[in-house]
Amino acid sequence: MADPDGREGPRDECGVFGIYGPGHEVSRLAYFALFALQHRGQESAGIAAADTGGYIITQRALGLVSQVFKEHDLQALGGDLAIGHVRYSTTGSNEWENSQPVHRSAGSGGNRRELALAHNGNLINAVEMHAKLRAQGVTFSSTSDSEIIAAALASHPAETIEDAVADVIPQLRGAFSTVVMTNDKVVAFRDPAGVRPMALGKFGDAWCVASESCAFLTIGAEYVRDVAPGEMVVLDADGLTSRQIGDPAAREAFCVFEYIYFARPDSQMGGGSLQVARERMGAVLAREAPAPGADLVIAVPDSGNPAARGYSRASGIPQGEGFVKNRYIARTFIQPGQELRKHGLRLKFNPLPEVVDGKSLVVVDDSIVRGNTTRQIVQMLRDAGAREVHMRSSAPPIKNPCHYGVDMSTREEMVAHNRTVDEIAAHLGCDSLAYLSLTGVYEAVGAADPGRHCDACFSGNYPLQGTTEANGKFALETSLPLAQSAAR
Ligand code: AMP
Repeated sequence: MADPDGREGPRDECGVFGIYGPGHEVSRLAYFALFALQHRGQESAGIAAADTGGYIITQRALGLVSQVFKEHDLQALGGDLAIGHVRYSTTGSNEWENSQPVHRSAGSGGNRRELALAHNGNLINAVEMHAKLRAQGVTFSSTSDSEIIAAALASHPAETIEDAVADVIPQLRGAFSTVVMTNDKVVAFRDPAGVRPMALGKFGDAWCVASESCAFLTIGAEYVRDVAPGEMVVLDADGLTSRQIGDPAAREAFCVFEYIYFARPDSQMGGGSLQVARERMGAVLAREAPAPGADLVIAVPDSGNPAARGYSRASGIPQGEGFVKNRYIARTFIQPGQELRKHGLRLKFNPLPEVVDGKSLVVVDDSIVRGNTTRQIVQMLRDAGAREVHMRSSAPPIKNPCHYGVDMSTREEMVAHNRTVDEIAAHLGCDSLAYLSLTGVYEAVGAADPGRHCDACFSGNYPLQGTTEANGKFALETSLPLAQSAAR
């Protein structure tokens, strides 16, 4: 299936939120926080909520946040504490069963544990964990690695959820920014490498966590700090408590693609604003890859906007708006189909001939993956009269798949795979093409130590021990046995 921006196939990109806030409208806060995190996943959305000491109620469905929840749903959810999730799928197919929060219970009587869990990332030892749990008699109903974490926690013999988390974290390999709730606390933790983001916020007297701080801006909460790699934070009647679970000396590997594309520009990460970092990427790109003689810099909206501004300022080439974007575009369930696609149905943006006609253009986008978007853009601009099209990407060439939770498609589908920059330019049909260097990315981000990041999609260096092509794709390959296990 293709989505409206021309990219195809499943992705595993998610956003999570959690709040402990008796006296506040926690489900409604979760709803608006998820709304702010919608860019992190548009296939399904869900919220789990509970009154202190009561049952956990979970509502999740395929669709956008605004499609999944109606006013009466939020009233019915209510609660003193809540967690939420938005998702695309790669580990596990696009099915309702794979939407989150995952709801699990295990044990009985005084040993009964009920929890709901929302996870962003991707386990690389899911097959092993799955086999281990099944050998203990645990059954599964989905094809997502998130259910493995939920099952490990629900069936854990430790008396408290905190102790269960402390014991399970060292058994997991991969990326896992996770929020778990029982009926009286929210526990959030990040993997020891801190691959995916997670931030801590304060809403009045209530603590909350979110994948990105933009969610706090939306609900009127204050961004306090990032949850540290390997840290577990507990939000409950005692306020906030924190425990370091992962080895503090473990190699950090925060995803550099969050800075480039994935996170929202109004989010803060690693202490800095992403909008500012992206503008700097454009400025460094202008220094590394100038386009002398060009008339105008234009952005591929919206992802290329900050870098285009930075490129224009640094180069002195004026910036114009070459495209009009449909602001209501989002992944929908109605796909254009071959016939309409062949006729050039453009859902996302149209060029403005009045701006681009006769001009030599520098066109800035944040990244080029398969090259489908760029090819289409170059053609549209030529059709609209552009004299020259000089493509500039504020990310280095993407050549390797992500095994830690961002869909980068397969290596073979990547336009930079086995092609030189000149060959890519010829394939895209542009007059020139240049990419920001990886050193340039780190300069722009202000990273004191690039060794504390993951840049595997560019460099091919996978920082987490034990990463292989196969173990990054757990559910796709094991979905059949999983489905059978659910049917039994
Ligand atoms: P393409 O080269 O056609 O595969 O798509 C590149 C465009 O998709 C760029 O404009 C990016 O802004 C955007 N993009 C890059 N990575 C991702 C991703 N992981 N998920 C969704 N969109 C992406």
